[in-house]
Amino acid sequence: MKKHKDLLQVLKANNMRITPARRFLLQFILDSKKHAGIKTGQITLKSITRFMEKILPGVNRSSIYRNIEAFKKLDIIQEISLPSGSFFQYVFDCKVHHFYICKSCGKASVGNEKLFNKIEAALKDIHGFAKANLSIVFYGYCSKCGH
Ligand SMILES: [Zn+2]
Repeated sequence: MKKHKDLLQVLKANNMRITPARRFLLQFILDSKKHAGIKTGQITLKSITRFMEKILPGVNRSSIYRNIEAFKKLDIIQEISLPSGSFFQYVFDCKVHHFYICKSCGKASVGNEKLFNKIEAALKDIHGFAKANLSIVFYGYCSKCGH
């Protein structure tokens, strides 16, 4: 699997050892889109620990948390906080990662590229800032909840 290999390279480039736990965690993140019962691309801490404890019995929970934190720092995943709890989203090779989250019903939607391009152009225009790796969460109210 090419993506998995690419991500292992990222870990290596950041002086992280490729441990079985990291390998499985990466695979779980990449596979999460296909897993039944998980909303597209949304990974909860619970689903990660459940998977890791099943595949690596006796795995240390704090090491799972540490690996999640490390993956966040490397921009492999992003943590999104919702009123109902938080989840993780794979963002590594996604050019756009911004979300709209409704403060009322908690619905989270992935932003679209058109808006991203406008924000990028405005950043350049107003701040002379280019090639931003945008990672934004907008909190507001969806059309159903209106306000
Ligand atoms: Zn709503």
